[in-house]
Amino acid sequence: MNLTDLKNDWIKEFPQPMMIAGPCSAESEAQMLETAKRIKDTNAKVPIFRAGIWKPRTKPNGFEGVGVIGLNWLKKVKQEYGFKTATEVANAHHVAAALEADVDILWIGARSTVNPFTVQEIAEALKGTEKTVLVKNPVNPDLALWIGALERLLGQDIKNLGVIHRGFSTYQKTKYRNNPNWQIALDFKSQYPNIPMLIDPSHICGNRTGLADITQEALNVGYQGAIIESHSNPDEAWSDASQQITPEVLAELISNLKVRNSGIAGFDNEMGRHRTLISDLDFQMIELLSQRMKISEQIGKLKKENDIAIFQPERWKVITEYATQKAKETGMSQDFIEKVFKAIHEESIEKQNNIMIDRK
Ligand code: PEP
Ligand code: MN
Repeated sequence: MNLTDLKNDWIKEFPQPMMIAGPCSAESEAQMLETAKRIKDTNAKVPIFRAGIWKPRTKPNGFEGVGVIGLNWLKKVKQEYGFKTATEVANAHHVAAALEADVDILWIGARSTVNPFTVQEIAEALKGTEKTVLVKNPVNPDLALWIGALERLLGQDIKNLGVIHRGFSTYQKTKYRNNPNWQIALDFKSQYPNIPMLIDPSHICGNRTGLADITQEALNVGYQGAIIESHSNPDEAWSDASQQITPEVLAELISNLKVRNSGIAGFDNEMGRHRTLISDLDFQMIELLSQRMKISEQIGKLKKENDIAIFQPERWKVITEYATQKAKETGMSQDFIEKVFKAIHEESIEKQNNIMIDRK
């Protein structure tokens, strides 16, 4: 059996778009029950409650999750409020404990998807399970690795599969915590339109303000749901405080979402896809320009310290020649590329001038 043969009827059990919400981490029974109650009270269509029990943290000595005791709290959330439950598993012990506690949906985190040994261990521990298993994209933009993780699960007869797009790490700080890099996720979607894809705007944005836009963008290009971090008291959260929202804000976000005719390769959908990719590239261009300007400012400082003139004709010549050559290679007009580079160069000179005369 191949990934392309999967039926994935599991998602039809849920209202569309399928929403998973809950805190980044389970912290206490009271925090879990209060968050669950408040999500329920909003009447938002959220059938699944998430909470991290074991937390993979970048540095040691941070809060690494409450461990198995948190599984009891997930059980209570299920019993008292009727949610299905979801948590992350990162090794065979986690799998055994989560299955024992009858967690409904398990996901493999971005830091685990990168490691084939870890994925294999999890897959073998889950062998033949009927539960739904969701695979987050690996932290690095590697489509084959993401698909490989799904193949390892299918290799152990795990057939209720889905993926979560949570963005990709970059060294450069950008407005996103993890760059969405839509191209990779959409390439996945076009290869495996049968595998449900959810968006995780919380880990893409790293803040509260961008969540609605990212979620809407994903629905526009046919994603089937979202996993969003929601906490009864986000500012005091023990992990990912800056990106979590209250249940009430979550409900508002959900009620503003416009559900498109997802999955149908019609005009709207194709248009949406192209627009998303264009925004992605525009964003990357702006980021690159801003990095270029910062370097240019550093050069301005050096020029000032060493009494060097700002405008260096031979430097400009190198740039024009390079632009001409690149225009040829990429099939764009020379005129256009020159215009773009002239504009960039002029802005650079302006910035360096400001440094020379100490104008801010
Ligand atoms: C999470 O969902 O809380 C989490 C740890 O996410 P990721 O694996 O995407 O970093
Ligand atoms: Mn988190």
